[in-house]
Amino acid sequence: MASEPRKPVVAIYPGSFDPVTNGHLDLIERGARIFDQLIVAIARNLEKDALFPVKERLEMLEAVTFELKNVQVAVFDGLLMNYAREQDARVILRGIRAVSDYEYELQMAMMNRKIEPQIETVFMLPGAAYSYLSSRLVKELARFGGSVKGLVPEIVEERLRAKVG
Ligand code: ADP
Repeated sequence: MASEPRKPVVAIYPGSFDPVTNGHLDLIERGARIFDQLIVAIARNLEKDALFPVKERLEMLEAVTFELKNVQVAVFDGLLMNYAREQDARVILRGIRAVSDYEYELQMAMMNRKIEPQIETVFMLPGAAYSYLSSRLVKELARFGGSVKGLVPEIVEERLRAKVG
């Protein structure tokens, strides 16, 4: 029996991206090599605690993913699984840096599976150089005058300097 042509696999990489780091970017590049389409989706929910407004986070993500043709950047409100269904996504992509990420990510993945069993969470590991890197640490470094060179793309470095420098 001839099998049906496979539908393109759409994956969503959700997060705060406040701001995008080279660790996120590493994961985006890895994801873009595997999935047909990758939507980097900024969650608007937690905006009030953020350093950068959603609009700026979007601009920075768009600038740094510009050359990745199957990557698109978007913003979503509310429940991730509702958004994933709307986008006809089959995969949620998340990054795991160390064991400390695992428990939270596991809980969230299991909860999401309960909400929508057809969508799989896929975990990827960043390059070792990024395994200690988080947006939170980058913001702390910048706030106290430390150099964030090599940890974030240049556009983020500039915007951080303008914001806290
Ligand atoms: P959230 O607020 O949802 O944790 P983040 O923007 O901090 O959003 O992260 C989004 C996703 O990217 C999460 O799965 C997180 O584990 C992953 N991530 C963050 N930093 C890195 C990194 N340095 N390497 C790999 N994955 C990362």
